[in-house]
Amino acid sequence: MNILVINAGSSSLKYQLMDPDTGAVSAKGICERIGIDGKFTYKAGGKTIIDAQEIPMPTHSEAIEAVLGALVSPEHGVVASMDEIDAVGHRVLHGGMEFTESCLVDEACKAAIRKCIPLGPLHNPANLTGIEACEKAMPGKPQVAVFDTAFHMTMPAEAYTYAIPYEYYEKDEVRRYGFHGTSHRYISGRALDMLGKTENPEGVRVINCHLGNGSSLCAMVGGKCVDTTMGLGPLAGIPMGTRCGDIDGTIIEFLMDKYGYDIKQMMNILNKKSGVLGISGVSSDFRDLEAAAENGNTRAKLALDKFFYEVRKSIGAYAAAMGGVDAIVFTGGIGENGIANRKRIMKGLEYLGCQIDDEKNNVRGKETIISTDDSSVKIMVIPTNEELMIAKDTAALAK
Ligand code: ADP
Repeated sequence: MNILVINAGSSSLKYQLMDPDTGAVSAKGICERIGIDGKFTYKAGGKTIIDAQEIPMPTHSEAIEAVLGALVSPEHGVVASMDEIDAVGHRVLHGGMEFTESCLVDEACKAAIRKCIPLGPLHNPANLTGIEACEKAMPGKPQVAVFDTAFHMTMPAEAYTYAIPYEYYEKDEVRRYGFHGTSHRYISGRALDMLGKTENPEGVRVINCHLGNGSSLCAMVGGKCVDTTMGLGPLAGIPMGTRCGDIDGTIIEFLMDKYGYDIKQMMNILNKKSGVLGISGVSSDFRDLEAAAENGNTRAKLALDKFFYEVRKSIGAYAAAMGGVDAIVFTGGIGENGIANRKRIMKGLEYLGCQIDDEKNNVRGKETIISTDDSSVKIMVIPTNEELMIAKDTAALAK
């Protein structure tokens, strides 16, 4: 089977053609600067065949046309015709309270995604545009929407309720939703497998640390989410590359009053200029921060210390919430590759029964256990694969 996995942003569109059974990717790439000038990248057979070529892409429709054109191209295509593409799976950011799982795209599904636009104003319109562009290019082809929020809908009320007047939940559905759900779900399955608990997951407590440009932690019992750090939107939780994470709302009032910012300017600061970039003034990229800290930049060091501190604190909070923890997983660019970072996060968590093995921890981007044999909590590195989850859901629903 060939599933086309699409992740549409406001000016970009990432794609992969994937076999949902084996996870093998036959082609992938990205359309960038949609609506500006348009740049197209296409990789197949492990090689970059088209590298940021300028192709006019006034809308997502031209981007999809470019993708399909490359996939079926006689020179460098990977399928003979569009008939060999069985279905399309779309990553959709916000499913609100409507979606507890993935759904076959029909008019009702699109209307529900549209209804969630106020909750995901930056992403949901782009996700819908991607779906509509595919409908236009491939009429009748089954399409599936896979939501970043869906996995978290099993959280209990005390975890998802905000302590603000209850009417905002009842009338407006203001609550914790959480994101990275497709990644957390993938990790949940892999972690249970590595623990030998796939068949009997009841009561198994896992904390997944998805640490990338955007970061979130998820607490799972028996493979189901019981809490997560992101909230109504992806701004909440631990500090990220450029997002502030949890802050006191009073700061918003204080800065808006003092500098005359409107809410858009304020949100731009919290989304784009905060996090480890905001503290360090150096970069949002952890490799840059590590290099700067090594060269004696004290703010870069503080940004890293703050990040590690908040991840460690959240692990402690989730261990408390679940009455213990059986496995802690690291994933995302920082979690999968940051050897020293994992060690610094886990420092001080020995009392929970977590012992990192330095030799086993000397690993990047590989699925493995990095705790000592006698560590009562298993510490794992698991490279995430959201695309595979999307492809699997799509194959199952399109059948
Ligand atoms: P996104 O959330 O955009 O998918 P990624 O999961 O790719 O982001 O993570 C990007 C982060 O991972 C960057 O801060 C980058 O510095 C960090 N990263 C990537 N490789 C390494 C590495 N070898 N060591 C430390 N950090 C790394």
